[in-house]
Amino acid sequence: MPTKKEAADKTLDCPKCWVAMEKEEVEILGPNIVIDICPDCGGIWLDNKELNKLLKDRKLSNYLTKHIGTQSKSQLVCPRCGWLMDIEPAEEVEVDVCLKCGGVWLDYGELEKLREISKAGFEGDELAKDVERWEEGSKKGRQSALSRLFRR
Ligand SMILES: [Zn+2]
Ligand SMILES: [Zn+2]
Repeated sequence: MPTKKEAADKTLDCPKCWVAMEKEEVEILGPNIVIDICPDCGGIWLDNKELNKLLKDRKLSNYLTKHIGTQSKSQLVCPRCGWLMDIEPAEEVEVDVCLKCGGVWLDYGELEKLREISKAGFEGDELAKDVERWEEGSKKGRQSALSRLFRR
């Protein structure tokens, strides 16, 4: 069984160009984090919670990674766990988020745009979030209805 640290050290492939991404240590307040950057397209892979550490904006990072629904609108496959991803919009930035591990894919320049959005004071679109919460809820509802059907 690989340890948690070994899993984090694993080289990931860019979900867009399929080349090996490079690790880069980022200095933040607190322990530094290591992010994965694609040498070809300049995209960035952030594991769950790394977005919050980089942005220092819990509201914006929670908005992008929590209650993301169950539908996959993204064409990308998660480079960390191989699961489907969804697109979460924050103003004009569209971020790809893994539906399973909560990792985040940022295209080149999107981190800077998110920082600007954060600085301007991000409020989010609660209506859109309600739809995704409803999606999550109704999927759970369907599953339990289905399991009732088979439990005789
Ligand atoms: Zn790439
Ligand atoms: Zn994932």
